[in-house]
Amino acid sequence: MVNHAKSNGEDLNLWNIVGREFDKAAANLGVPEGLLQQIKACNAVYYVQFPVRIGDRYEIFQGWRAEHSQHRKPTKGGIRYSEAVTQDEVMALAALMTYKCAIVDVPFGGSKGGICFNPKKYTRDQVERITRRYTVELVRKNFIGPGINVPAPDLGTGEQEMAWIADTYDALTPGQIDSLACVTGKPVTQGGIRGRKEATGRGVQYGIREAFKHAEDLKRHGLSSPLEGKRVSVQGFGNVGYHAAKFLSTEDGCRVVAVGEVDGGVYNPEGIDIAQLAEHRNRTGSMKGFPGGRMLDRPQDVLEVDCDILVPAALENQITLENVDRVRARMVAEAANGPTSPEASERLSKRGVLILPDIYLNAGGVTVSYFEWTKNLSHIRYGRMEKRLDEIYREKMVGALEQSTGHPMNERMRRELIQGADEVDLVNSGLEGTMQNAYREIREQFLSDPGLGDLRTAAFAVAIRKVARSYTEMGVFP
Ligand code: NAD
Repeated sequence: MVNHAKSNGEDLNLWNIVGREFDKAAANLGVPEGLLQQIKACNAVYYVQFPVRIGDRYEIFQGWRAEHSQHRKPTKGGIRYSEAVTQDEVMALAALMTYKCAIVDVPFGGSKGGICFNPKKYTRDQVERITRRYTVELVRKNFIGPGINVPAPDLGTGEQEMAWIADTYDALTPGQIDSLACVTGKPVTQGGIRGRKEATGRGVQYGIREAFKHAEDLKRHGLSSPLEGKRVSVQGFGNVGYHAAKFLSTEDGCRVVAVGEVDGGVYNPEGIDIAQLAEHRNRTGSMKGFPGGRMLDRPQDVLEVDCDILVPAALENQITLENVDRVRARMVAEAANGPTSPEASERLSKRGVLILPDIYLNAGGVTVSYFEWTKNLSHIRYGRMEKRLDEIYREKMVGALEQSTGHPMNERMRRELIQGADEVDLVNSGLEGTMQNAYREIREQFLSDPGLGDLRTAAFAVAIRKVARSYTEMGVFP
């Protein structure tokens, strides 16, 4: 769906939507008007057209890279490949990055980029040429660099594109020792970090887990603990949707009852086996013919099935006034950016549906990107220095425990207790702590000012406060 569409009189332009959310949250914060304007504006947008040879002809591609706020450097945000990419969308997504980074205390400004094309219609070779050419354009105008602007994956891009970007940047800036830090979301063998690929889905899992720890909040929304056994419906079976579905079902005991994709979806009230569905889709390229459930004909059906938690993990403006009254979930966990229109969001809140807002819930990706960036700058893998020492202390502790109780431990328990943390353990622990702290901060903001109305507005308020503080501390706005 193109984000400029109007639905039932709703303005579905994401830039306007983000601006309205900002204004609502900023209204009573006591931040000076001039400073609010500075925070809200998009500082710089680079628009580029470039030709790439496709078969026996040249095709012109349109791309953008927006830097919403440079109050912290570098700026950070994904690169999107989609036919729906527009300048407004890129600017809006860059703004969301600014607020998201502030919410999870990641010291970056917000950025976003995109190229307007559907990568599925091109060969791998062609996507590589388009990606490398776009990177050259970014280098030319100083819109990429470890201390300037650091892209990451988003819709339609992944590890492979990030590796091409890193390689192109490195070729154009010879001798720069930190060049790998020019982009995150790279394969582990190319300077990536373990846990980044699944980080946004993991963050979604941790955010939902955190929400389920507050029994009194859940009660107000017609939900109850535990998370185990809750029925989940997921729209979009890409990076974020797949990982969120996988972790919620295999680690939290949720039942994923529906998964929706562009070509329809699968429904099974007994629960879908996510590994089998992924294997089927990878093999056939479609959800169709999956034996573990019945088919949903229309991609939108997944939003309307009977479930407890709805996880939109595909595109913006999926829940609008047109379909909001048919949404049956008690919790909408916004894994995608901007999946719920403001009017639909208001309608859901009035009905008591708990919305975990995108600017908080999908911040896992940028959090672990931050870990990857610091790893690239320090040139050493997390855990390398301390793992063995950690194990030596643990061995001593287990030995002392065995001696004082007079009972040797069984081998499995001994191994579990002795093993020091690997990179992925440290990454996940850092991510979980970050998601917990951010949720608590948003919740406190909400409880201290119920006039904010919902967690989304509270999350914006937290973000605006932090960005305002940082400008003030810089001495820019006394
Ligand atoms: P992706 O390209 O890996 O996956 C998106 C999936 O959604 C694809 O499988 C696509 O076929 C499917 N899809 C597209 N239109 C659909 C429709 N109408 N109905 C159902 N499915 C549809 O992208 P992703 O990285 O998983 O990103 C998904 C969302 O999460 C986007 O909104 C993105 O901005 C947001 N996000 C991603 C990250 C990240 O780290 N990748 C971080 C933060 C936010």
